[in-house]
Amino acid sequence: MSINQSTIKKLYGLSAGRCNICKRVLIEEDVQIGEMAHVIAKNPGGPRGADNLANDNRYENLILLCSIDHTIVDSKPNDYPVSRLHQIKNDHEAYVFNRLSNNRGYFEDLLALNTLFKYIPILELRGMAMELPSRISNRFEAKDMFDNFIRGNPHLYPFKDRQLDRKWCSVISNMEILDCWILGSINGLNLITISDMYNSDPIPQPCYNIYVNDERGYMALNKRYLSPEQIDYVSTEVHRIVQDFIYSHTDLVHYIRNNFNEIEW
Ligand SMILES: [Zn+2]
Repeated sequence: MSINQSTIKKLYGLSAGRCNICKRVLIEEDVQIGEMAHVIAKNPGGPRGADNLANDNRYENLILLCSIDHTIVDSKPNDYPVSRLHQIKNDHEAYVFNRLSNNRGYFEDLLALNTLFKYIPILELRGMAMELPSRISNRFEAKDMFDNFIRGNPHLYPFKDRQLDRKWCSVISNMEILDCWILGSINGLNLITISDMYNSDPIPQPCYNIYVNDERGYMALNKRYLSPEQIDYVSTEVHRIVQDFIYSHTDLVHYIRNNFNEIEW
């Protein structure tokens, strides 16, 4: 009795057309080079043979292999007992299934990133951060947009890709620190430095109108009201958090470029 068509389709389908041992693709230029090996031999005298299970062509008794592994498995039945072959087959089919499941995660992350990048000018954030503290772009508000995105798309965040998630969190937390400084400097009466952010002591030299609107949608540092020493001091301090932000931003963009080819920036 030959192997029936539905069994062949099931075996090839669940194995993704690959050898269960070496993972080699078993179709080359339209030629099918796979072999459906018997776990328990067709003949009682064959490898792992058993009188009562001769000629068992059911799916459960078959494993898809390349010709090389088929030869090895059948010539070394002691190294490849029934239990080991079943284990190899189960592991391979689970491997195929998990790869497809992870692909679903990949497409969810891709959708999340493409949605986010419609609203967040991710590549421009680097240039905006480098202009601090001289100018603040009114488009430097990715943190708020990100919070809105999470509220509207709870199924897309956290990202399924853990590395992506970690790198994204790092950018957002560095951005929060920058946001905190920007808000303090624009809305406060005093020039906010990094140490001020973490220190509730009164700031010695109050000054007003630290930032003024310019005509191109930016807040510009109002240098007429600040001494050169104050400007230097703030620049030095802000430089540190800007560097942290740029480092994490570069890391994230690099990772996305390498791992999400279909991204629409
Ligand atoms: Zn193989």
